[in-house]
Amino acid sequence: MIDLRSDTVTKPTPAMYEAMVTAELGDDMAGEDPTANRLEAFVAELLGKEAALLCTSGTQSNQIGLRCHCQPGDELLIHETGHVANFEGGAPAAMSGISCRLLPGERGMLDVATLEAAWRPQGQHHPRTRLLSLENSTNIGGGAAWPLDRFIEVCDWAREKGLKVHLDGARLFNAAVAREYHVRDIAELVDTVSICFSKGLGCPFGSILVGSSDDIAKARRARKLFGGALRQAGVIAGAALYALEHHVDRLTEDHENARLFAERIAECEVICVRPVEIETNIVFFEVDPAWGTAAEFSQKLAERGVRINPVGRQRLRALTHLDVNRDDVLAAAGAIAEVAQARAAVTIG
Ligand SMILES: *Cc1c(COP(=O)(O)O)cnc(C)c1O
Repeated sequence: MIDLRSDTVTKPTPAMYEAMVTAELGDDMAGEDPTANRLEAFVAELLGKEAALLCTSGTQSNQIGLRCHCQPGDELLIHETGHVANFEGGAPAAMSGISCRLLPGERGMLDVATLEAAWRPQGQHHPRTRLLSLENSTNIGGGAAWPLDRFIEVCDWAREKGLKVHLDGARLFNAAVAREYHVRDIAELVDTVSICFSKGLGCPFGSILVGSSDDIAKARRARKLFGGALRQAGVIAGAALYALEHHVDRLTEDHENARLFAERIAECEVICVRPVEIETNIVFFEVDPAWGTAAEFSQKLAERGVRINPVGRQRLRALTHLDVNRDDVLAAAGAIAEVAQARAAVTIG
């Protein structure tokens, strides 16, 4: 099986397991897990922030981040495809009483003109607009990595309006590697950043929220409230430290494989994809309705040992990761060409 459904399907490597079982442990809720403490200090320093807090999932670190900045009744601004608003179970409203104002923009990114047009005077009528929530790289935006100058413009606008900024950096390292900026260049522009260890970095779970000492103190209370405070957290912190050392630079390989995969499948007549837009490890593509639906296409691929999920009537989403190499993506592209051909043959026959 070649599994391209998500970059979350990876299993820990033997060396990562080793890092987990040999990690020094203590009770993290008492602040006594040396490995968790080391991870938090390391990531805070790496991102140029004062403090960090290990969380169990990306959803949890995002929602704790929002909680640091907003009160019930407040509103945040976010791209209409943003994970925080669309894929976290309605948590902003359910957990913190926050409403999400969804705004358009190409490839999951916002721009100042759109934000300015959406801005409402802050009187007694409207929700209090409190936070701008950004995503880098974008997920449903097709793995786009924000250009640094555009990110700066949007964050400057937020500052002018007195807004806080939270970055959903589930795949921040993918973006940094792709655009060749340092994660600190992005982190310094925002108040809080969440990063996932369970995506391209290859850990079984774990995420981290980074920000000022004040925000992380608030976050620590919220983490307890949200059920995310752990005991021997070094088991996962050890994996995360290992991943930060060994699995960041290799993300370029995932990006090259994603681009190669897109280029290959672009040769199929019934597939629509734009390889030039593939900057990181996410590839959205469409199957021509004349062939059939994305669900049917996905089914036929599974029969050939390739797993790619449909994400719409004609759309599918493939992700490259640590557990697939160049040969695997070439084989997957080959299977796509076969499936594309097979149906065409049936139709003609
Ligand atoms: C995966 C992901 C998250 C976190 O999701 P979890 O399943 O909770 O780890 C957050 N934001 C984006 C953009 C993601 O892709």
